[in-house]
Amino acid sequence: MSHLFPNYGRWPIRIIKGEGNYLWDEAGNRYLDFVAGIAVTSLGNVPPQVKAKVQEQLDTLWHCSNLFEIPVQEQVAEKLTSLTCGNRAFFCNSGAEANEAAVKLARRYMQKIKQQPRYEIITFKQSFHGRTLATLTATGQAKVKDGFDPLPEGFVTVPYNDKEALTAAVTEKTCAIMLELIQGEGGVHPASTEFVDHIKGICAEHGLLLIVDEVQTGIGRTGKWFAYQHYDIEPDIITIAKGLGSGFPIGAIVGKEELAEAFSPGTHGTTFGGNPLACATALATLETIEDNGYLARVEELGAYFIKKLNGLADRRTDIVGVRGKGLMIGVELASEAAPVVAKMRESHILLLQAGPNVLRLLPPFTIEKDEIDLAMQTLEEALDAVTQTV
Ligand SMILES: *Cc1c(COP(=O)(O)O)cnc(C)c1O
Repeated sequence: MSHLFPNYGRWPIRIIKGEGNYLWDEAGNRYLDFVAGIAVTSLGNVPPQVKAKVQEQLDTLWHCSNLFEIPVQEQVAEKLTSLTCGNRAFFCNSGAEANEAAVKLARRYMQKIKQQPRYEIITFKQSFHGRTLATLTATGQAKVKDGFDPLPEGFVTVPYNDKEALTAAVTEKTCAIMLELIQGEGGVHPASTEFVDHIKGICAEHGLLLIVDEVQTGIGRTGKWFAYQHYDIEPDIITIAKGLGSGFPIGAIVGKEELAEAFSPGTHGTTFGGNPLACATALATLETIEDNGYLARVEELGAYFIKKLNGLADRRTDIVGVRGKGLMIGVELASEAAPVVAKMRESHILLLQAGPNVLRLLPPFTIEKDEIDLAMQTLEEALDAVTQTV
């Protein structure tokens, strides 16, 4: 009997080792990894360049409180702000915590700096923002809220890519709009350029803050450092986590200079957030992406993969569509995704679902073309096998 709470529907594989694009189970089976720890281990498993720098940090200092100045935290903040339109960073330990910080910062800015009694955050259907009480309330999926009443006030959820619905939702209480530019958990749905332009207009017209949740899309996943850089916007707050630490838990927000005073001393904080060990993993991750030209690689391999998948979709009626950017790809099936995921796993290729009918592919940036080709061939076999048994 397991002594863990049964809150995860776990796959029956006991993973004990990872190297590059592969994972190994206890029985010695090797798996090709198109999960990457859910867009976390973007540089592959145990990436040598990150490992070397983290080992140096392990020998020097693991943790000290945010009561002190932490040079490596300053370095990561400098790096993240140089890569974005933001000027200030705050570090935490997860995506949900980053979104919590963003909501707190937006509300406090409106209430204390702008002196306006605004608190409502507009979010979107099928979104995913985390599992804390505020972030599950922000999430546009009923299943994550079930049984957790009472939920905090101040969140309104409207249909995604629907300009009229968004316009209608803005009131004198609205404080910010928060969205994923490609909805990850909700089915790999990109925001249309037209919709994002509309959001930009609404924010300017009503003086609203724009929060982009880049927990999954950020740190190169879509072929740019951040997904918002595919659009003509400059968000006020960017939330970051998954790919930032190559597997070490670290989250962050980056925000514009005018928000700085809203987080005056004592207003927000966390014990572990931005500790030297976590920041060493982040700095090494960012430098490795830069040194190896991984953004161009993600763009190229993503285009290659999507082209192949579109070719497969053209030939098959059991694929409805292919969506995504860079190495964040969704394949919508005509039927359930779970049996296909299971079949692929039997063939030692790991991938995810995003909703009942969508396969989600999030390979590490180090994936090779021949590994993509193998996944394509295995996917076709899995689809054949599943379709035959229906
Ligand atoms: C995973 C995810 C989160 C939550 O991150 P945790 O680290 O699990 O708290 C929030 N937003 C998006 C878009 C995510 O993909």
